[in-house]
Amino acid sequence: MLDDMGNWRKTHYTKDVTSDLEGQEVILGGWIRNYRDLGGLKFIILQDKYGERQITIKKGVVSDQLFENVKMGYQYCIMIKGKVKIFKKAPGGVEIIPDKIKTLNVTPNKLPIDMTGETISELDLRLNNRALDLRSLRNQAIFRIRGELLKAIREFLHEHDFTEITTPKIIGSATEGGTELFPIMYFDREAFLTQSAQLYKEQLSGVYERVYEISHCYRAEKSHTKRHLCEIYVLDVEMAFADMHDVLKLLENLVYHAIKRIRENQFEALKFLKMENVTVLPEVPFPRYTYEEILDIIEKKLDIKIEFGEDIPTEAYRKLDQILPGYYYITHWPMSLKPFYIQPSKDSKYSESFDLQKGWLELTSGGTRVHNKEQLINALKEKGLNPESFDPHTRVFDFGMPPHAGFGLGIARWLTILCGLDDIREAVMYPRTPERLIP
Ligand code: ATP
Ligand code: MN
Repeated sequence: MLDDMGNWRKTHYTKDVTSDLEGQEVILGGWIRNYRDLGGLKFIILQDKYGERQITIKKGVVSDQLFENVKMGYQYCIMIKGKVKIFKKAPGGVEIIPDKIKTLNVTPNKLPIDMTGETISELDLRLNNRALDLRSLRNQAIFRIRGELLKAIREFLHEHDFTEITTPKIIGSATEGGTELFPIMYFDREAFLTQSAQLYKEQLSGVYERVYEISHCYRAEKSHTKRHLCEIYVLDVEMAFADMHDVLKLLENLVYHAIKRIRENQFEALKFLKMENVTVLPEVPFPRYTYEEILDIIEKKLDIKIEFGEDIPTEAYRKLDQILPGYYYITHWPMSLKPFYIQPSKDSKYSESFDLQKGWLELTSGGTRVHNKEQLINALKEKGLNPESFDPHTRVFDFGMPPHAGFGLGIARWLTILCGLDDIREAVMYPRTPERLIP
């Protein structure tokens, strides 16, 4: 028999129930992470969005009726009314002695995944049961860090005069070239899901000077790696009256600020993930290597030969991680590897571009952009793109486009690093991969 919530409302979250409340009556609500029945003594570990507290149900202490009626299962949704008692060994240094417990909803005898925290179920199984899985303490820690990360990014950028923008995700033509797009039906026409905010953020840097956006982009690539998703959440930044070197400084300070905030405000979550000695404040400025210097290191130290103009293969990055485990920049990529909007260097074999790496993983690509219209149109032609189809974008460059530079950073990639995860799918609430479209 299920109980009605009736007029019960939570008086506190678990985190607020501390020894200061000794003797006071509280109403808590949440889910049962653990339940033990030791005969004359029953324990419930109740979790809510902030943590957990122990409910102690002892024969003779609580009413006989309450004691007999308590028959619980993992992840039952309950509310309890009871008194706070100091008990050093329990979570938060308190236990709650219940007067009444309401069972609001129940679960099957056997849950599809382990929710006690004793083992970690296989990732695909967890993803199939994601809403349940997300309640786990591990996931609570990961997504609390994500929340802090997003907050810190916004805080930092607002302090540096950035305006938050929102640009369309449905686009009329395959804009940038390069990446594969997802076609969709837009009434009776074909349209696409955007691969990046690139062109729009550039346009808006000519309005608000410093802009950023955190939103979804779509990559229709059938990648099966631990770092690729089809739906990605990206921080896009663009600043006017600036070049790549200004962006390098801004980005390393942003990284520093975000880690600082995570350590200040989510240290417990870091500790839960055993990352408190790994996700530490990085030294700023980050080391800067040119693409050619990196090729040199890879050849001399790792014995892998990469020709100028080739992308750096994953295998080389993985090994490079041993030599360069921290945050570092790779600058001046060959122009042949870069999109049309990137500014070539004085020697046009190179480009004013960079990646931010953390060990083996690319977090960011960015660079100085072309802001001269004629040059932009020539760059389109050189990349085999049709300037006419880019007219809605290039015409903006007729109206006093300022010099500008920026970057795009994958949020899930950064979270993978910050939390020490093995697979990027763990860093997203509902990941989209070539095989996974549900839940
Ligand atoms: P990669 O070479 O690793 O596939 P990319 O160079 O194609 O990435 P960009 O176009 O530079 O990616 O996108 C900017 C940032 O967005 C990347 O640095 C990365 O952090 C993130 N990102 C790009 N593609 C993906 C993806 N498929 N899944 C997750 N994150 C991605
Ligand atoms: Mn890139």
